[in-house]
Amino acid sequence: MQGVDLHTHSNISDGTLSPAELVAAALEKGIHTLALTDHDSMDGLIQAEQIAKSQPIRLISGAEISCQWARPATRKSYGVHIVALNMQNPEPLQQLLAQQQKIRAERARQICNLLIPLTGQDIYADVMVQVDGQADRITRTHIARALVEKGVVARPQQAFDKYIKEGKKAYVKFDGPGLAETIAVIHQSQGFAVLAHPTRYDLSATNVRYLIELFAGHGGDAIELPPATEPASTRQMVDRMIAQFNLKVSVGSDFHGENMPWIKLGNVPKVHEGQAGIWESFQ
Ligand code: AMP
Ligand code: MN
Ligand code: MN
Ligand code: MN
Repeated sequence: MQGVDLHTHSNISDGTLSPAELVAAALEKGIHTLALTDHDSMDGLIQAEQIAKSQPIRLISGAEISCQWARPATRKSYGVHIVALNMQNPEPLQQLLAQQQKIRAERARQICNLLIPLTGQDIYADVMVQVDGQADRITRTHIARALVEKGVVARPQQAFDKYIKEGKKAYVKFDGPGLAETIAVIHQSQGFAVLAHPTRYDLSATNVRYLIELFAGHGGDAIELPPATEPASTRQMVDRMIAQFNLKVSVGSDFHGENMPWIKLGNVPKVHEGQAGIWESFQ
């Protein structure tokens, strides 16, 4: 959808632009509806609104929440990202985010501790410099960057592949709330719950379908459309699930600035005929 981007990060989490710079960049791209969706934080919104309020752009409140779901059959739990959008009553969600930020701070210390014997380096201080001393903002992107700066790996992706992605020795699960609770809190905040990047969780097609069904069953509102770089068959499967469960669609680039230079702000997939954009429901 031209002019709409409902999934972006600022340097409040693991993007590189400040919230104000993000709004300025969006204006340059001709974006008229922008959601700032930092990981487990709405702290950038005030700064972003300072710029947006006098400009021809609608700023939508948002956050990308790290939560979990499980298949009852195996009881294995999986991480999932839910984008919360357009909260009219932010307080309930702010309370959940305060908890999330505590988890983030503790987990960052744990990951750095696990990395010490693996790399011979304690990178915690370097990570803290990147977040201006605010440990509750640390993501694995910051940890990967610190490992590059220390020369432990050549590129951030290698840090994930060698140390910090699931299954690797310095992986620490994000022990967030369940999917149902997360959606309920977003609704208490009078916002919309969007399943972020459904094809990016390293799940089998069966599990992706199960996750979408579960999300719909818990009252989730919209599914983010997969980018055009995904295989057509995968995108069609998601389109079928959206239709089957009567879900709306969201579009977002997942822009992270220079941390992921291949992702362009405002570069979002096309909405297909018959699909309803969640932004049409914003008050
Ligand atoms: P965290 O929320 O701390 O687990 O950090 C998650 C962030 O790390 C994601 O939003 C991505 O920006 C980045 N990320 C996650 N997995 C990978 C991966 N395999 N390779 C590169 N970046 C990743
Ligand atoms: Mn990220
Ligand atoms: Mn995500
Ligand atoms: Mn994201």
